[in-house]
Amino acid sequence: MTNRHDSDAGGGEPIIGIDLGTTNSLVAWCDQAGPRVLAGPGDGPTADAIVPSVVRYSADGQTVEAVGVEAKRTAVEHAGRTVFSVKRLMGRSIKDVRDDVAHLPYEVVAGEHNTARVRIGDKVYSPQEVSAVILRDLKKRAALALGRPVNKAVVTVPAYFDDAQRQATRDAGRIAGLEIVRMVNEPTAAALAYHLGQRHDDATVAVYDLGGGTFDVSILRIQQTEQGAVDEVLATAGDTHLGGDDVDQMIVELIQQEVRDQFGADIEFTAGTRQAFRNLAEAAKARLSTETTANIEIDLGSGCVYRRQLTRGELEALMLPWVDRTLDCCKQALKSARLSADDIDRVILVGGATRTPLVRLLVEDFFITEPYTALDPDKVVALGAAVQASILAGINTQMLLLDVIPLSLGIETMGGAVAKLITANTTIPARATEQFSTYVDGQTNVKIHVLQGERELVDDCRSLGQFDLRGIPPMPAGLAKIEVAFLVDANGVLNVSAIEKRSEKAASIQIVPNHGLTRDEVARMEADSLEHAREDMTAHQLIDLRNQARMDTRAIERQLTKVGNQLDPAYRQQIEDEVTTVRTYLDADHPDPGEFHEALDRMDKATVRLAEIAIATTLREDQDVE
Ligand code: AMP
Repeated sequence: MTNRHDSDAGGGEPIIGIDLGTTNSLVAWCDQAGPRVLAGPGDGPTADAIVPSVVRYSADGQTVEAVGVEAKRTAVEHAGRTVFSVKRLMGRSIKDVRDDVAHLPYEVVAGEHNTARVRIGDKVYSPQEVSAVILRDLKKRAALALGRPVNKAVVTVPAYFDDAQRQATRDAGRIAGLEIVRMVNEPTAAALAYHLGQRHDDATVAVYDLGGGTFDVSILRIQQTEQGAVDEVLATAGDTHLGGDDVDQMIVELIQQEVRDQFGADIEFTAGTRQAFRNLAEAAKARLSTETTANIEIDLGSGCVYRRQLTRGELEALMLPWVDRTLDCCKQALKSARLSADDIDRVILVGGATRTPLVRLLVEDFFITEPYTALDPDKVVALGAAVQASILAGINTQMLLLDVIPLSLGIETMGGAVAKLITANTTIPARATEQFSTYVDGQTNVKIHVLQGERELVDDCRSLGQFDLRGIPPMPAGLAKIEVAFLVDANGVLNVSAIEKRSEKAASIQIVPNHGLTRDEVARMEADSLEHAREDMTAHQLIDLRNQARMDTRAIERQLTKVGNQLDPAYRQQIEDEVTTVRTYLDADHPDPGEFHEALDRMDKATVRLAEIAIATTLREDQDVE
């Protein structure tokens, strides 16, 4: 029997997980259904789960005017009193942060013992106090989402944070009225989100974290204990001024050069134009993570319009040295951990810039292992913090750590049916492949829709994700050979890949199938499938019959057009009658599958001779051509 009260097993006092980031922060919660980030109230911009780590004070510095999205939106107009990147100052002396401060538009002064402080108007705040404003906002958001007060949290910190920086983070929690029950290293949290170290005794993991402005790589050894994972940070390396923003800058420089070449070397760019260049550059970069081309167009006024198409290839040529710099850090980290790339069991990608395909490819080449990308790289640290929180709260999340696949996994096929590749209760790791084809002549794209559940129809299953296999060369329906492979690894992460064998075009997706499902939900889905077994079978059967009937009638029509005049009129009439009967079943809302099947059979038998004549005619034509 399942225990319906598992989620209260920890005594009811909720513990949330917080990723307190330099640029953005998030709060997450984990119960039996697994971890999830908590969105803000309403459906406006604050509804986003990502809270920019930005605080705006009043001009005199006395009060907090805005936190998060709103503070970020007005950051340029209120530059002197909007505080961001305060994490760079936490627990540091004014000397430590001299280089960072040079780039900050707000005033940083020396406080007691030469610690870094922020001055706004007449007030001087410690970085802890500014961080506390963000933590308080996250605490409030969590209490609203969970419908009860929240006083405890697991908070993540960079693996390289020293004691003073960790203590400062703890103090920020105290000021915000949050007891930080555990501080977890960010890379360890990312590993926990994937349950690394929970299923197995030991895992050596590389966490590659490439954000907007900073890059970190950590090499960890993670071990399972009753209290969650115990990590040993074997090495960290990185660069505090290397990130996705550099790529935007490279594109901006390219645009500016081309604008000058086109419209004159003396053209001046206003601050507004430069900002517009940056926005366009970032949008084009993000687009090129999924598309192969992106269009850039800027109206420069006075009839000057700059237009160009940027290809993924061009961007990758620009980015190559930038990715290489991150790999140099990886080399350095491996060296200080006294390990080589093949000692790494798993690689996890964190940070928005890891969505770049070139980054994924080169990281995979470097570590000789396909990195985990199933979880959103912006949310994975917060999700892991929530997993650690749930373990400390004693919430039973065993559901997530099953050694079997609790519900079948498959893909959508023609007409809304589900083809199951891996059935429920298969032990992991598990692997399955199946061949599919195209249904339409000249089809060059195939959508692979991954589903979970026991029912036969797409609408009754849970959608896990989808991707497109593109660039299949045009060929007649049914000729393309598409092999879809499902691989669930020992950590329960599902990798679905599709390859068209003739053209070798391939695409893939990674998913964590068990996130977001409680044990009760699994039980309900199983019960549903039993209850609806008969009607589901009929529905699936009808979809198959309809697909077959459509293909066969189309083929017969083609043959009739070609050789119809060679047929005896009575035979031709007989064929047309059989086709009409099949069409009646095809158009009916609820045809009897048995009768439909018989009609299809009769039509197929009646057209054997037609097919022979058609083939003979084609052969003759071919010979004539030769
Ligand atoms: P983070 O600091 O982790 O929020 O990462 C932010 C960085 O990720 C910024 O430089 C973004 O431009 C970049 N980024 C976000 N989405 C994408 C994407 N789809 N492709 C490439 N870079 C992205």
